[in-house]
Amino acid sequence: MAFSFTNFAADMFFKREQGKPFIIAGPCSAESFDQLSETAKHLSQLPVDLFRAGVWKPRTRPGSFEGKGLEALEWLQDIKQQYGLPIAIEVAEPQHIDLALKYNIDVLWIGARTTVNPFQVQRLADALKGVVMPVMIKNPVNPDVDLWQGAIERIEGAGIKDIAAIHRGFSGYNTASKYRNQPNWPIPIELKRRNPNLPVITDPSHIGGKRELVASLSQKAMDMGFDGLMIETHPDPEHALTDAAQQVTPDVLKEILQNLNIRSQHPADANMTTSLEYLRQIMDTLDAEIIDLLARRMELSEKMGVVKKDSNITTYQPDRWRDIIETRSERAVQLNLSKEFIISLYQIIHDESIRKQLEILQGRDANNSVKR
Ligand code: PEP
Ligand code: MN
Repeated sequence: MAFSFTNFAADMFFKREQGKPFIIAGPCSAESFDQLSETAKHLSQLPVDLFRAGVWKPRTRPGSFEGKGLEALEWLQDIKQQYGLPIAIEVAEPQHIDLALKYNIDVLWIGARTTVNPFQVQRLADALKGVVMPVMIKNPVNPDVDLWQGAIERIEGAGIKDIAAIHRGFSGYNTASKYRNQPNWPIPIELKRRNPNLPVITDPSHIGGKRELVASLSQKAMDMGFDGLMIETHPDPEHALTDAAQQVTPDVLKEILQNLNIRSQHPADANMTTSLEYLRQIMDTLDAEIIDLLARRMELSEKMGVVKKDSNITTYQPDRWRDIIETRSERAVQLNLSKEFIISLYQIIHDESIRKQLEILQGRDANNSVKR
């Protein structure tokens, strides 16, 4: 069956307006014909719009599975014939584009590790001149909306008309985070604000990094008004050669898609949800800063406790406390905060400082045990 996306981006929008997200699914990597065929057989029965599979894999460390290359392109050509699903692959080199054209691939995507490099994106853009094919651009690994925007502009500059963005989360050194890649939702929201006609697809698989997170991230993406989902799907995820922890079976994908609650088909409501989510994200960031600042303030108090102990003075200094109350509430009032609010907040902070300093004066260490 021959497929042609006459207007890929418009198709995504149409789906969203109809309350149906645009769905891209398929394995992280094309591993064997049977694996592809088993996946495609199931996905062709689901509301899946595009079949994905990695043919050349960008691996963090050498020696890992790097994709099946040409062999995989041959398999994908057969899969397309057999199941009638249009096919998308990742391209990272100009010769990948030539081969994708040769093997009748329908859609290309640029991976996060490529988007990060303007030289490489430009090489791809140059190779795309004169090509008519939709291109999806994943966000760069680092949280930089301009770099993402820049990659989109380079591909647009090559004359590609059908462009979509894929939000796959951002690297960060946050070992406490439950995500593989931090979603940083304000970034794709900003991208959408700058490019109102650009479909933005969410990739919950690479954001979550664990299959248990895929359903809730997919719902969140829908709640925020994004246009579709890219979900890695494998017939035997545990034994997948790449991204084994985050892939789901076609049955699980079916369940995820069935349970999705598409909250609003009305743009006004979708915008409202989006801006509320956006404000919440900013609030989360501010709260994290407040807590960091409080921790730093407390550290400072402890250092002052040591000085007070060494110079044998009391922790509670009434003049200092009066001065704190006066200066802080003056500043608060200038910023339209109520004096009562800031005084009660400082009372709690000051009490905690005094408690910490008393521990130091009484010779207790941070673990609250008395020093010998
Ligand atoms: C992928 O889609 O399998 C992939 C390599 O993704 P990313 O570029 O987002 O890491
Ligand atoms: Mn992957």
